[in-house]
This record gives sequence, C-alpha cells and structure tokens, in this order.
Amino acid sequence: MTAVQSSELWYPDDDIILECGKTRFRIHLNILTEHSSVFREMAKISYPSELPSVIPLQDSPCDMYHFLKSMYDASYFQSYSFLNLPIITAVLCLSAKYEAVSLRRRAIDILNTAYPCDLRSWSGASAKHILRSSDEEFFFPVCFYAAAKRPLAEILPKLLSLPLARGDIDELCTQFVVGRENLRDAEIQHVLRFLSPSFMRPGCYNRNSDTLRLQLHSPHALFRLAESGQPYQDWCSMNPSTVGTTLGLCDPCCAAIEREISVGLKTIWKDLPGIFGLPDWWTLKKADCWE
Ligand SMILES: [Zn+2]
Repeated sequence: MTAVQSSELWYPDDDIILECGKTRFRIHLNILTEHSSVFREMAKISYPSELPSVIPLQDSPCDMYHFLKSMYDASYFQSYSFLNLPIITAVLCLSAKYEAVSLRRRAIDILNTAYPCDLRSWSGASAKHILRSSDEEFFFPVCFYAAAKRPLAEILPKLLSLPLARGDIDELCTQFVVGRENLRDAEIQHVLRFLSPSFMRPGCYNRNSDTLRLQLHSPHALFRLAESGQPYQDWCSMNPSTVGTTLGLCDPCCAAIEREISVGLKTIWKDLPGIFGLPDWWTLKKADCWE
C-alpha cells in the first residue's frame, strides 16, 4: 500500500507525519501538542530527535482531515449548519480520543446550540454517518431518529451487521423497531394535531370555510404515504410554514398551524430518548460529561 500526501495538510517544513489509512498529513508538532494532551504526552516520552516521524493511526483519513483542519483554522466550523455535521461529529470523536479539550468544547457548544431544539435538521441525515458517531451516548436518540427515517429494508441489514454480540444486536433491533413505531405514533399525535376538531385557530378570517377545508383534508392526509412514499406527518415536519397555505387557509390559520407543529416537534425531541427506551437527555449528557 502506497501512502499519498494530503493535498492540503502537507507542510513540507513541518515536523510530524500522521498516517491514516493511505493518507499522510504532514503537520506542525507544536500545533498538534498545543491542542491535544495525548500527543503532548507522546511527544514528551517517545519522539526521536530525528524528524519528521511517521505515526500510523487507525482513524479515518476523512475524520482526521476535519480534526486537523479545525486545529489550523479556528473558523473551520464556526457555527452549525447541516453541511457541518460530518465535521462536527469527526471533531467530537477525535477530540475525545486525543483529548483535544478546546476543540471538543467548541463542537459541543455548537451542538448544544443547535440541538435538542432543531429536530427537523436531522430528518435528512445520513443514517450511516449518524450510526458511525454512536460512541457518544448523547447521540443514541439522534442515531435512532435518523435511522427511523430510512426504510426498514435499508436500516435492518446495517443494524444486523454491526460488530456486536448476537444478543446485543437482537436487543438493539428490538429497541429500534419498537421505538420507530412509538416515534410514528408521537408524530401523528403531535405534528398532525392541527387536524383535530379541537385545534384552536385564533383570529381566523373564514371560520366556516377553513374548518370545512381542514375536515375535508383529514382523510386525504392518510393517503399521502401511498401517493408520495412520505408520511404526511413527515412532510408537515419538514414544511411547517407551508402546510396551511397548501390547504388554502387564511393567514392566522397558517400561523397557528406552523406554531402548533413547532411546539409538537419540540415535544417529540424532548421525549425522543424515552421513545427509544433511553434515559432522558439530561442523563445522557451527564453520562458523557457534557455538563
Ligand atoms: Zn382561517
């Protein structure tokens, strides 16, 4: 196997080479040791005086790239956006492993800002990526959530191929399938509450006709899954601001529906660990020493 130089993280005058899989990163020892106490200890004890040294590591080159890039560029992931998710999870995993406290703090702060209130962002998450980051207990509910949004036929083979003992896999699959059903029930209950006759629409301009529109729409919502492959509650979760307009309702009704969906999503997110049979968020965070 021939190792290749990282096209970006290769500073010819620098001290140390990290080798992950086929990729080599040539970087400053002082930057590495400034951020990571594991590398700081390694440097104290065992580095030969002749540099550069090549250190083989077992980490994914892609994760290592994000981790190192974050050390060199403080603005590399300044805020949460969905596109940053792979970077944040990579930094989270490697900063835990190599004890890079400030980077880990930054990743956690960003996640704490974005979650647990931003449920919708997870809907499109790649279940494969999420499952990979599942060494953090705090992520378990999120892993389950992202996986529950994929077809069972896609997810079950992945769960069955996890490197776990048979009994653990059985338990995990049961937990997942039961939680997936609980999640669907919770979403119908909380996201589609606006279809209930008791749903209040303060300030409605056209009370009679809007009430009729909602009543007529309720049965149609059931058929949406068959027509589009996407449950109506999922579509509403992703498009809360357009639900009312697609039904032709007045502005106050549209706003009331959007608010109701937002409240419903927050409730689901708050309950998400319990839906999948896990301890609540606070306990999960504490277990990971996030607070
Ligand atoms: Zn109205």
